[in-house]
Amino acid sequence: MSSNTPRIKKPKKTCDICKSGKPVIKRPKTGQLVCKECFYFVFEEEIHQTIIQGNVFKENEKVAIGASGGKDSTVLAYVMNLLNKRHNYKLDLVLLSIDEGITGYRDDSLETVKRNARQYNLPLKIVSYKELYGWSMDEIVKEAGNKNNCTFCGVLRRQALDRGAVMLGAKHILTGHNADDIAETVLMNILRGDIPRLQRCTFITTGNDSMIKRSKPFKYTYEKEIVMYAHFKKLDYFSTECIYAPNAFRGNARVFLKDLEKVRSTAIMDIIYSGESYENQSNNNIPTSKVCERCGYMSSNKICKACVLLEGLNKGLPSLGIKKSKKARANPKVIKEGESKEIKVKNFQDLTKEENCKMEYVVEKSEKNNEMDIDENKKLMDSVNNMKRKLQNLD
Ligand code: SF4
Repeated sequence: MSSNTPRIKKPKKTCDICKSGKPVIKRPKTGQLVCKECFYFVFEEEIHQTIIQGNVFKENEKVAIGASGGKDSTVLAYVMNLLNKRHNYKLDLVLLSIDEGITGYRDDSLETVKRNARQYNLPLKIVSYKELYGWSMDEIVKEAGNKNNCTFCGVLRRQALDRGAVMLGAKHILTGHNADDIAETVLMNILRGDIPRLQRCTFITTGNDSMIKRSKPFKYTYEKEIVMYAHFKKLDYFSTECIYAPNAFRGNARVFLKDLEKVRSTAIMDIIYSGESYENQSNNNIPTSKVCERCGYMSSNKICKACVLLEGLNKGLPSLGIKKSKKARANPKVIKEGESKEIKVKNFQDLTKEENCKMEYVVEKSEKNNEMDIDENKKLMDSVNNMKRKLQNLD
């Protein structure tokens, strides 16, 4: 082309939804180019639709949001607070954090959660492994080495969240597990041959028949979109990795999933749908839920996994519950007199709401998060209706 040839200006790209805004993101989930305002709208409203279709909440429910200070739980707290007001769910939202006792990691991330509590005006409760079990993760790693720390940590955290919820008088916990996490879990269950867990891991809500149920409102929300949302909204979150080894097996599943996505962009949703539609032929493989004889927590065995692990730690047999117990018992660490810990974990069935539950951040009555400011709600609903009109005009 000669230098005199007039250049034909390419038409400027516009948002695929509103046809006027400047696109800022290509949605990994749909391939659409969208502007910031439309991205916020579709991101939030898709989560709302997931919640409605999954029939996740009851009116006036007290709901604890598991908050770690990371991107997923920070966006979860922000979006749930927003949707609760916008769609009038009438939920009593509370932040619940677990302090595993990991110096240089959790202490810093908890500072982020404390700021989030003030920013979103949500009450915050922190429960620690040390107060619940007598052991912090730093102490566990010192005792057991850093090979199986995620096994200890995962088992103890699950119970700690439930215990914290009971203290708060909440029967429902929300976690920030996103679509990528769920697809990874489906893959891991296939690779392990864990058929009973395969279908359950895609449920939006689990534990309907237990004291505390759990839900994942981000079940269909891509991790990349969560990161973009947090970035555009300038949310305050903590992004450092835990100082103890990341979960190696999940790491492999993650790498595999990313590779799959490169050749099949819909891989995440496809895997979740496959998990959902999996017909579990062998229902009798699902262990019947009992109650742990020692601590009263749900368990498929007489003694729950947390009690076995804690017994091992208290007796100087940290491999108990991890390796074959005979092998662990054959090589106990020699414990000097008085060194064995006798820590009694409170019986789960006896836990009740603590009337004077110690909170990190308490919302003043006049600013309670489920009491809506009429003007604020009107503004929110106007923007939703505006956006809906734009979308209808496209049809
Ligand atoms: Fe706990 Fe492992 Fe997660 Fe660290 S990486 S917080 S040790 S589960």
